[in-house]
Amino acid sequence: MGCPTPEELVKEFQKRLIEWGRKNYVNWPWRRDRTPYRVLIAELLLKRTTRQAAAREYPKFLAKFPDIENIHKASFDEVREAFLPLGLYNQRAKQLKELAQVVVEKYGGKIPSDIETLKKLPGINDYIAGAVLSFGFGRLAPIPDANVLRIMARVTGFSRSSAGGRRKIYRVLERLVPKDRHVEFNYALLDLGGSACHYQWPKCKECPLRDFCVYGAEDEKRRGCLERRYQELARG
Ligand code: SF4
Repeated sequence: MGCPTPEELVKEFQKRLIEWGRKNYVNWPWRRDRTPYRVLIAELLLKRTTRQAAAREYPKFLAKFPDIENIHKASFDEVREAFLPLGLYNQRAKQLKELAQVVVEKYGGKIPSDIETLKKLPGINDYIAGAVLSFGFGRLAPIPDANVLRIMARVTGFSRSSAGGRRKIYRVLERLVPKDRHVEFNYALLDLGGSACHYQWPKCKECPLRDFCVYGAEDEKRRGCLERRYQELARG
């Protein structure tokens, strides 16, 4: 296989990842009937929790608190109680109560739809802001969660432990996420982190990104080609 141009790399990367994502799609409850609020709640439940445990609590949580106004009106103890089965309940309840207060009092109960405002809300990091934008509002956004950063560090060869490396990974991700199919792309990348690109045992032979991954490259020539291409994509 020859060395692809940056445009060829982006196109083929998107195609292979989305095809893989369709075959391996898991219909988690938070992937249905998505709204910004529901996506936000799912992400708070998923923090340091298995997907299986979050899937059990998600419908119960929404039945109890169907919108952000309900969180605002509820007492701290009521919100805390809803988080009890998942751990970190004091921290999660405090963050969500603070967030609901800001959203209701400052934004009239509407979750903001621009990335910079979202990131300033209590408990909202880059990853949750991206998820709310892409999955909740249907707007183009990368979702740099810990799994995605790990995959993209392996794919690009950039270090995720330095701020400069993370900035480059983020810029490459912005180039890779397709405008028209960002939801499918983002779900597939999240799912890849729990299967082929496992944190301890990457199974490169089964991976749809193998031909475009610095870590999984078969020889030095291919590795060098991909490193150059990701440097170019990171420069924009
Ligand atoms: S080729 Fe290997 S390291 Fe690269 S993304 Fe796939 S599983 Fe991860």
